[in-house]
Parts: sequence; C-alpha cells; structure tokens
Amino acid sequence: MKITGKTKQLAVIGWPIEHSLSPRLHNLIAQKLGHDCVYTALPVKPEDIEAAVAGIRALGIRGINATAPHKYDALRLVDVVDPEAEKYGSVNTIVNRGGVLYGYSTDGEGLYRSMHRAGIEPRGKNVLVLGAGGAARPVCVMLASRGAENITVINRTQSRAEELSRFVAEKCGFEVKTQRRDSHYNIVINCTSLGMEHNSDACPTEDFSMLDSTSAAVDLIYAPPETVFLKRARERGAKTLNGLGMLIYQGIAAYEQFMDTEVPDNIYDELERELVR
Ligand code: NAP
Repeated sequence: MKITGKTKQLAVIGWPIEHSLSPRLHNLIAQKLGHDCVYTALPVKPEDIEAAVAGIRALGIRGINATAPHKYDALRLVDVVDPEAEKYGSVNTIVNRGGVLYGYSTDGEGLYRSMHRAGIEPRGKNVLVLGAGGAARPVCVMLASRGAENITVINRTQSRAEELSRFVAEKCGFEVKTQRRDSHYNIVINCTSLGMEHNSDACPTEDFSMLDSTSAAVDLIYAPPETVFLKRARERGAKTLNGLGMLIYQGIAAYEQFMDTEVPDNIYDELERELVR
C-alpha cells in the first residue's frame, strides 16, 4: 500500500475500539480492488462524539464507521440521513461528500445479504428473535422490511422487548410479538451476547424443540465460529449461520458508500478466509 497526499482516509470510531475487525476488513477490500484509501481505528469517548463528527468535515476524512456507543448520536449529527437509516434509528456509516455528511445504516443490510447468501430468506417466514439489545433492532427492522410473516422477540428483560416492538411498529407499521407462543419457527436468530468467546458455554435457550430440519438458526456471534446455540441447532438438523457474514457484508455495504463503488461478490470467500486467519 502506497500512501500519498491523494489517499482517501477512512476510519471506525468507537469506545473501546482496539478489538475492531473493521480496519482489517476495509483495508483488505481496498487492497483487493486496488483503491487508494486507508482505514484506521480511532478511539472516541462518548463525550467527544460531537467534536469527532465535526472533525470529519474539518479534516476532510472521506468516511467513518460509527460503532458502540456512537450509532445513535451519529444519526442526529449528520446533515442528511438516508431513509433506510431513519427507519433503523441509527447510523453506522458517515460519508463526507464535499463537506456534507450523509448517514447510512448497513447492519440490517449486512445480515440480509449474509442470510441470502446462505439461502435463508425471511420473506413469509415465522421468525423468533432471542434478545432485544442494540443489535436486535436492525435485525427486526430488516425482517419486517424483507417480508417476514411473523416476528417474535423474547428477552430476559421483558420491557426491552416491548420497547423494541413499539419501535418497529412506529418505523415499519409491523407488529412484533413479545411472547413465544408457537411450537415451530422457520428461523431463530440469537441476538444476545450469550455464547461469545469469554462466555462460550452459555446458550440463550435450553429449549430447541421449535427447530427442525426445515428451520434455520442464525447467530450474530462469530467468535467462536460455532456457538453452543448453533451446535445444538445443527444437532436438531437445522441449517446454521454465524455472524461473520453479517460483519463482512455490513462492511462491504459501508465501503460501497465510502468509495461510491460496487464490491464484486466474488471477493467474499477470500475476505472470509483472510479475516479468520
Ligand atoms: P447489547 O445491546 O448489550 O444486548 C445484549 C442482549 O443480550 C440483551 O438482549 C440482553 O438481555 C441479552 N443478555 C445478555 N446477558 C444475558 C444473560 N446472562 N441472560 C439472558 N440474556 C442476556 O448487545 P448487542 O449490541 O445487541 O450485541 C449482541 C450480540 O450481537 C453480541 O454478541 C455482539 O457481538 C453481536 N453482534 C454481532 C454483529 C455482527 O456483525 N455479526 C453486529 C452487532 C452485534 P437484557 O436486555 O435482559 O440485558
């Protein structure tokens, strides 16, 4: 990589940010496509978010990904909010076009593209979402927008599931249920943090009777690659998918906005291989 005065600058902001895979992902994409840009990680404390967004304009930075805890502030700080991001209620991608900051949300799109690639389509499906934290919101909005027949969210803290249901009703006119009533689901998505590396024995449910060989189980977690949730779903005969594809595709969708380009899908396998190496 040759950095010159013309090199476009991209970065991810978050707090903390050291463990982000985004720099590796975006620099790999740029390298594969031969683009003149560089992507770094910038630690931005919650109280510094306004100064950081003003700095994008002042420093002529081409684009920024915003991760926790900045996605909601980013929505109010950009000049133009993409209608999709408005629906998601957060912004994870800011593009500086001639000093005007445009905000996009690519998390829901990232999950959709990953599921589509794996042959898991939400349209017409009965979907159970486990968890109602920050990540469950784009998941539910995406499912509602992509034609799911039914969405049920269950969460340890019931009030958060109800809050999420109200949000999706307001943004998408879709009624998300907050009590599990059905004995079978076509798709079950783990949006809790149970099963992540530091807590890898944990599982968001003990009951897998709602899954069979016609179902799919999706976990937003990608480390470990197979959580207890995915292992037990696989043992029931369900198709399984971890969160790496969502991570890669939300990055690809952001990169497409940053560089005003289309990333060819044939680099996906190489990105996946190189990221887990
Ligand atoms: P979050 O806002 O902190 O929400 C955590 C969720 O997990 C909440 O629903 C919480 O329930 C539940 N939970 C946590 N500990 C629990 C326990 N002991 N028992 C039952 N439920 C528990 O986190 P998030 O941002 O939504 O992220 C959730 C997961 O998605 C993380 O593993 C994250 O790494 C992953 N993620 C992946 C991607 C990707 O690109 N693949 C993107 C975003 C997130 P309460 O509401 O009751 O606390």
